[in-house]
Amino acid sequence: MKILVTGGAGFIGSAVVRHIIRETQDAVINLDQLTYAGNLESLADVAASDRYTFEQVDICQRAELDRVFATHQPDAVMHLAAESHVDRSITGPAAFIETNIVGTYTLLEAARAYWSELDEDRKLAFRFHHISTDEVYGDLPHPNEVSAGTELPLFNETKAYAPSSPYSASKASSDHLVRAWHRTYGLPTVVTNCSNNYGPYHFPEKLIPLVILNALNGKALPIYGKGDQIRDWLYVEDHARALYTVVTKSVVGETYNIGGHNEKQNLDVVHTICDLLDEMVPKASSYREQITYVADRPGHDRRYAIDACKMSHELNWQPQETFESGIRKTVQWYLDNQQWVNNVQSGSYQDWIAKNYQER
Ligand code: NAD
Repeated sequence: MKILVTGGAGFIGSAVVRHIIRETQDAVINLDQLTYAGNLESLADVAASDRYTFEQVDICQRAELDRVFATHQPDAVMHLAAESHVDRSITGPAAFIETNIVGTYTLLEAARAYWSELDEDRKLAFRFHHISTDEVYGDLPHPNEVSAGTELPLFNETKAYAPSSPYSASKASSDHLVRAWHRTYGLPTVVTNCSNNYGPYHFPEKLIPLVILNALNGKALPIYGKGDQIRDWLYVEDHARALYTVVTKSVVGETYNIGGHNEKQNLDVVHTICDLLDEMVPKASSYREQITYVADRPGHDRRYAIDACKMSHELNWQPQETFESGIRKTVQWYLDNQQWVNNVQSGSYQDWIAKNYQER
């Protein structure tokens, strides 16, 4: 099978590409514009494979998409290319509307034109898999806000959408477009909505790599508000395996929620990283002393938590890492891969961090 992966130079996309090349016999066409978040170094271990091809293309460019479909004749699309950082969507929403909504629309139209010309067998087997986020559902009641003993709800696949940020609203829009292209045109689509990912090759603007690297560099560890927001963490390689399972085994038209059953308050995540660093790279004072509290993000969702039962019952997928094992591997990876970190920590990333974190 030939899989067209969009956003394959990003954090999750690169894990998907590494998974497919290492664990399967399938071929990958990695289509990525290489924005600030795209990094081909994350694919250095698999790029030499004769089953791997790279196309530097913007998903908003229809003619280029048509060329890629015609040249490579994929059997499936895994669509991960997106603007993905909530804070950036608050300071500059335009790129999120352009890539996440217009780009997904353009890709759907290119895929539909290609798919409609396939022979009947390939048409039936084709998949357009849209990779999305649990943030489209808005937030859930927080344990601090309900009386003791109240059962806390989880996001399941029937939860109504209520996105809070420009990022999550743009992803919600793209999810709706993908479902509409199935319902209206019969394009064989599937959507997955996943919780927060963490792990190797994560761009250091996101909480976990930011905290690891700031701690090691003696910088402040910024915590939004009181740090009591709850996220449900999934190790990125568990997500990549889930996505491959979905693109190869799912039922057309369905939605699957993917999560790690690891609900953690942000402050607890930061404490865990500090404690691991105290053990692995000890210094005179604890890394916890570098924690500083900064103004909360506007519209910050309080709690996300995924019900991943459909993935386990229908597709027999389970996460292999617990948060404790995954976060230890992640911290160790950042300690062992300083060159990757140095290369990524330059240019626009530095300017953005300076503006958004140090001015608060
Ligand atoms: P990322 O920001 O690390 O990577 C995005 C990739 O898309 C980059 O390689 C970038 O160069 C590419 N890209 C951006 N705009 C493009 C364009 N116009 N044309 C072609 N390529 C473009 O993102 P990520 O964290 O790997 O997330 C991947 C997908 O998974 C996104 O759709 C995101 O919404 C979704 N998701 C992420 C998480 C998470 O925790 N990171 C959780 C659930 C879902």
